[in-house]
Amino acid sequence: MNNKLKIGWFSFSCSEDSTIIFTELLNDYYLEWRNLIDFRSMLILQKKSNPVDLDVAFIEGAITSKSQEKKLLTIRNNAKKLVAVGSCAVIGMPSSQRNTFQKDLKGEINNVLITFDYTQNVKKVADIVRVDDTVAGCPMNEAQFLELINRYFKEFGIK
Ligand code: SF4
Repeated sequence: MNNKLKIGWFSFSCSEDSTIIFTELLNDYYLEWRNLIDFRSMLILQKKSNPVDLDVAFIEGAITSKSQEKKLLTIRNNAKKLVAVGSCAVIGMPSSQRNTFQKDLKGEINNVLITFDYTQNVKKVADIVRVDDTVAGCPMNEAQFLELINRYFKEFGIK
């Protein structure tokens, strides 16, 4: 039986508001969660990052470059469960709105894509890797997140 749920939290192209919601949740749950969660990778809490052998990887944001796709694949290979968190990760929008631009507008942003090595189209997380669960909302729905993490505590034998 695990002592703690090993989690990582990773933000890709987005406004990181679901990260802020998670931080707000810590105001209420940190004293409980510090005994239940091993925060292996979470830049808002700590610089050290050890994203291997994760029970759950939470992914926020849409995927906008080949290097992000590669990183996401590495995370997938190191996590038993992968959760897309928030609308940008789950359906791509609103981060993927440039996918809907007409030809002339696409031409106008092309230099930006080249400069920052962005892909022509923005992808949702499920376009790249298998997603086990999702948390909807923009930013994420707190109640759904709490329901999910409590399910994982049970599923991984933490409590
Ligand atoms: S889902 Fe909404 S809140 Fe979350 S990163 Fe995207 S735009 Fe921001």
